[in-house]
Amino acid sequence: MGGRPRRESDRPPLDYLVMASITVIGAGYVGLTTAVCFAELGHDVTALDTDAQKIATLQDGRPTIFEPGLPEMMHRVVAAGRLRFTTKHAEAIPSAEYVFIAVGTPPARRGEADLIFVRQAAKSIAENMVRPLTVVDKSTVPIGTGDTVDRIIRENQKSEIPFRVVANPEFQREGSAVHDFMHPDRLVIGAHDPAAAQDVAALYAKLGAPVLITDLYGAEMIKYASNAYLAARISFINEIARICERVDTDVKVVAQGMGMDQRIGPLFLEAGIGYGGSCFPKDVKALARMAESMGYHPELLDAVIEINTDQRKLIVEKLREVLGGLRDQIVGVLGLSFKPNTDDIREAPALEVIQNLLQRGAIVRAFDPAAMPVARQQLNSITYCEDPYAVAAGADALVLVTEWDEFRRLDLQRIKTSMRRPVIIDGRNIYDPKRMRELGFVYRGVGR
Ligand code: NAD
Repeated sequence: MGGRPRRESDRPPLDYLVMASITVIGAGYVGLTTAVCFAELGHDVTALDTDAQKIATLQDGRPTIFEPGLPEMMHRVVAAGRLRFTTKHAEAIPSAEYVFIAVGTPPARRGEADLIFVRQAAKSIAENMVRPLTVVDKSTVPIGTGDTVDRIIRENQKSEIPFRVVANPEFQREGSAVHDFMHPDRLVIGAHDPAAAQDVAALYAKLGAPVLITDLYGAEMIKYASNAYLAARISFINEIARICERVDTDVKVVAQGMGMDQRIGPLFLEAGIGYGGSCFPKDVKALARMAESMGYHPELLDAVIEINTDQRKLIVEKLREVLGGLRDQIVGVLGLSFKPNTDDIREAPALEVIQNLLQRGAIVRAFDPAAMPVARQQLNSITYCEDPYAVAAGADALVLVTEWDEFRRLDLQRIKTSMRRPVIIDGRNIYDPKRMRELGFVYRGVGR
């Protein structure tokens, strides 16, 4: 560990409001929300990103992600002079007391976390720091990465300036990231030096949130373990759903009954097309591969991954069975983002389902309330429609992939009359099977 910028006696108690100078490296989903929310709490914040286009858009006052509540808050803190955006490390690092690393940690070839951006961020901190500071890792990283960051900074500093490394993993959910930052269930903050962790906790004091201070490795592990557990609940209920289909009962009722048990709880027990997004798939794999590299074979984690992969294929298989083949069938896909209220399509089940449908010769059209502009950049072999009704008109089947609220409120009678064949595969179990059959649909959910 590097040295500490403050003496023990200078350390503020948690209830003392600290206004600090904070730089956030990486202005993506996590970094931008973190920067905006820290500025909202009163801190002086600089958001740094190497993506010049992203920074230009942000400097222009336009948020680069779709996130409820973010635009208003961003305009407010920028106008108040507490948040600025830059691509220049030399502008962002020297003045910072705290530098948060919020860069991506994408999967490498075998599923292990690729730390290239974290390493680059650490090096840039070392090369530009001119006074003692605290480096706080917010990215989701393998256990021990804090030590790697520490080493990279020490090896690349121009002169020996004290610094500390803290892990403060992020638990915000896309679609409610601002709310989650402002009302966290808990803050997890870990460091070899508990005083450093306490100082980082003080940055959040205004939130009055429960704080768990732990060691560096504990904090890093809590993030992976939490995501792996949530993913495991989803794969678990999807396995139960497969059994439910065979014994002819409804997994939704089964999950409801299970969730009423306080030891189990109702959340993350929704059977469907499986988990997606930029976190669960990569984090479960990264944890499994990390365990393997340490000589442990993670049987349960591997099963979680396998069930999830198969779940996406099963949906297409169901559709093939109902239609009696997929070649030249017009299939409408409702929802592209990996979950509602976001435009994020990273590891979105919809992309895999669409690729699978195209490979089998289907003609695909789609609608998503937010994700179509991003999807267009990656996927140009499908037709994008202006609304769900245009997707349904003349289609042989609809596959509901993302449970956006607007899909719950559809005029299903209108949908049915406009379709060539009234087939709906409900990948998120949002419709009532009985009502759908009464309306004349051929309806298939997951585990019902
Ligand atoms: P993202 O890809 O949206 O953003 C990362 C940003 O970092 C990009 O804008 C990129 O240009 C920038 N960047 C990369 N290297 C840089 C460098 N050296 N200097 C400056 N900028 C650099 O990623 P994200 O979704 O915000 O995720 C960031 C981390 O947070 C990941 O480790 C992720 O697992 C974790 N996380 C994400 C979420 C989520 O909901 N997205 C939630 C919790 C944790």
